[in-house]
This record gives sequence, structure tokens and C-alpha cells, in this order.
Amino acid sequence: MIEVLSVASEAYPLIKTGGLADVAGALPGALSAHGVSMRTLIPGYPAILREVAAGRVVYEFADLYDGPARLITGRFAGLDLIVLDAGHLYDRPGGPYAGPDGRDWSDNWKRFAALSWVAGKLALGLVEGYQPQILHAHDWQAGLAPAYVKYGPSDQVKTVLTVHNLVFQGHFGSDIFGRLDLPPHAYWEGVEYYGGVGYLKAGLAAADAITTVSPTYAREIRTPAFGAGLEGLVNARADVLHGITNGIDMCAWDPAIDAALVQNYSPNTVHKRHINKAMLRTRFGLEQTDAPMFAVVSRLTNQKGIDLIAANVDLLVSLGATLVILGSGDSVLEASLQLAADRHPGRVGMVRGYDESLSHMVQGGADAILIPSRFEPCGLTQLYGLRYGCVPIVARVGGLADTVIDANEAAVDAGVATGVQFSPVSIDALGEAIHRTVTLYADEKAWRKMQRRGMKSDVSWDHSAKRYADLYASLLGHA
Ligand code: ADP
Repeated sequence: MIEVLSVASEAYPLIKTGGLADVAGALPGALSAHGVSMRTLIPGYPAILREVAAGRVVYEFADLYDGPARLITGRFAGLDLIVLDAGHLYDRPGGPYAGPDGRDWSDNWKRFAALSWVAGKLALGLVEGYQPQILHAHDWQAGLAPAYVKYGPSDQVKTVLTVHNLVFQGHFGSDIFGRLDLPPHAYWEGVEYYGGVGYLKAGLAAADAITTVSPTYAREIRTPAFGAGLEGLVNARADVLHGITNGIDMCAWDPAIDAALVQNYSPNTVHKRHINKAMLRTRFGLEQTDAPMFAVVSRLTNQKGIDLIAANVDLLVSLGATLVILGSGDSVLEASLQLAADRHPGRVGMVRGYDESLSHMVQGGADAILIPSRFEPCGLTQLYGLRYGCVPIVARVGGLADTVIDANEAAVDAGVATGVQFSPVSIDALGEAIHRTVTLYADEKAWRKMQRRGMKSDVSWDHSAKRYADLYASLLGHA
């Protein structure tokens, strides 16, 4: 067994704000079949402390960044956790990074330096009887961890940094450097970023291997358009950069048994989806018509290309299609979609907010899901779409490009198409993709085939877990 310490600021189902949580929560289970034992170091937020009340205290710090702290271990929600219980840092209302008012905590530099520093100590065998061989850090919140190992007294433990979204980098002023417990030369060797401190940059510079969540995103972040200012460093480290696509939770997302659906179905009974579609029409206030139904399930942000959807609503309706939107986020984008919905009563419906169960219904009933992201490290929405026969219409970027096969003539003839891709990410190109989808939908037999093919495509963790396991083994010099 290879012993891996995963360091993450979120892990599903305990605490989640995005895809990082899904990966950190799913990997340990998926890796166990590949000879990897993974423990997860996670901050003791209130939601996590509630779970670990019965855990075992394995270490106590008298002072960790201005307060006492301790490590609690135990198995919770299927995960082997090491919880960093430091009330002065993590036991607060709100989310993992921001207070109830939505503003980032001003001491985030301290909260996540502490997490990474403790990870570095665990790598040195801080807790008796526990010696990881690999430290696997996720995103900027754990970005300093590989640096603590690199500048520590032993190079026995190898480090991996996974980037879930390069845009989030953990930038702080240079004044904090003195409190990070790193040697002065570390500053110019990678920690410094535009005169301040960059946690993600520190990890990119120090880690033995870097991964990101799809092969295309791994290539994209080497360019100025996607590199968010770090493309120089990413390029310099290209020889240790790997793209490994995320999988999905195949149990939580299984249309054959999904309790959120009115009608369950499988690839052979995909025609039964029309019952869910009828429910959706009612839920979203649409006319009862057999017209193709497009869907949006998304955070409403600039990254997701929501403005391009708003600009195409009139075209979509003019082609005889309907649209259901489930989303929350940026108020300007929200308002522009609402305006479009109001222009087309009975044809476009919108539900504002975050509704997990309704998102399953949408995937289980709508015909096609629109994902015109400007960038997308991996994306899960298109994977759920494939699994549920809700054909993904995607921008040709990042993980969207890697997981959906465009229904061009050659792919249709070869019987491999699973969705529609478009490029560039523009209003017109999305409009053309919508047009193409409506045309494809009109050929019912071919459409069903495409749905079934998507439903059968492998979106599980199996293949990717093996790639992580192989990466760990190669870092340890195993054949
Ligand atoms: P990102 O993590 O960048 O938001 P992903 O496609 O990787 O994008 O994952 C988004 C996840 O959030 C999916 O599981 C999607 O179903 C879910 N989601 C997004 N918006 C909503 C919403 N308003 N209601 C329910 N689920 C949502």
C-alpha cells in the first residue's frame, strides 16, 4: 500500500463549495482499489467538528498561529480524516473562506498557512505510527504544504499539487512572509509573486509533480489566455505537469435509481425521460409542448459564459425550442436571464437558487444542457449530462473538450458522437451550436443513439484513480 496524505480545504460530503470537494471526497475511495491508502487533513470547521466529536486526539499544539490546536483522527463519512481543530482559525459561522456576509476572512493567510504547516509536520512523522510517503496538496489553500516539505529537514516524502482552478491563487502581502516559517531564500525561489506572497505559486514551484483536472486544461494553463499570470512558471515545470480528468460519483448520479427523478430509466429505456420532461415543464411554468428543451444548471458567473446564453435566448425560442434555467450568482447575469425569461413566458422558465434535487431532475428530463464556459478546468455538469442522457452542448475548452465528442458528420457516421462542441466561445458560435442541436434533435432515432452512447461513456473515477496511483508509484521510484 502507498500511504498518501491528502491536504484539502474541502471534502464532499462534509463541506463543499466546488469541484475540489468532490475530488477530495471521491479520491480516497477510488484509490483504495489501486493499492493506495489515503488520509485527508482538513480544517476543523463547525460542520466537521460536529462529525468528529467522538474522534481520537493524536497531537496537541500549544500555539498554532496565535491559539491552541489539536489533531483529531477518525473515520467519518467514508473518509479517513485528520482534522485540524483550531477554534481560533476555523470554528466560525459562514463558509470555509468567507464569513456570513460573503467577505473573505482577513486572516485567510494564517488559516491556510497553518493547514499547510501542519501537513509539512505530518510528513515528518509528527504523529507516532503515521508516516505518509506522498503528500498530495489541493489548490492554493494547501499550496504552501509542498514548500514546507521541500524546505524541511527530510526529502523522503514526495509531493503532488493538484490545481482545480488556476484563477484562485491565494495572494497576500509580503509582510506575512516572516510568519510562514520558511527560510528567507524560499521567498525568491518561488513563494514571491508580484512583490507579495503567492500560496499557489509556492506550491507550483516546490511540488515534485503538478496535476490539473483535464489534459486540455493542463495545456491551456501554459498559455497567457488561461495561465492567469502563472503561465511562465507552469511552462517551466511542464515536465512534471499532468492532466488527469475528474470522474463523478456513480452512485449519487445514477438515473436508474436516483430518488430525485419522477421516472427512473437506463440506456435501454431512455424514452421514459419524457415523463421527467413533462414534470420539468410544470415546475418551470412552460407550455406542454414536445419542443426540444435546453437547460442551464450553473453558477451564474462570467466564467460560465452566462451572458452568451442570455444573448441567445431569442434565437433559441425562434427555433421552436424551450429553455429551463436553474442558477444563482452574479446579480447582473441573474437579471439578464430573468429578463429573457420574462420576454418568453411559457417558453423559458427560471428557478433562482441552489437546488441539488432539482438539478438531478433537470439532467433527467431536459434534452440538452448548455455549458458555454470561457474556461473549465474539468467541469462536472457535462459528465452528469452524459450519464443522464441530457446531451451536453459545450465550449471547446478544458475538460469540456476532453469529455464530449462533437456530433460532426464524421463522428456521427462513425457512431461516436456524444454531444455538441463549439468554438470560439462567442455569442454567434453558441447560436450556431443551438441551431445544430435543434437539427440533430429532429432525427429522433439518431438523437436517442447519441443519448445512449453518452449514458454508456465512462465518467467514473476508475481510470483516473489508476493514473493518480501510477503517478504516486513513479514518484516513489516504484516500477
Ligand atoms: P463549478 O465547480 O465550476 O461550479 P462544475 O460543472 O464542475 O462547475 O460543477 C458544478 C456543480 O454544481 C454541479 O454538480 C452542478 O450540478 C452544481 N450546480 C451548479 N449550480 C447549481 C444550482 N443552482 N443548483 C444545483 N446545483 C448546481
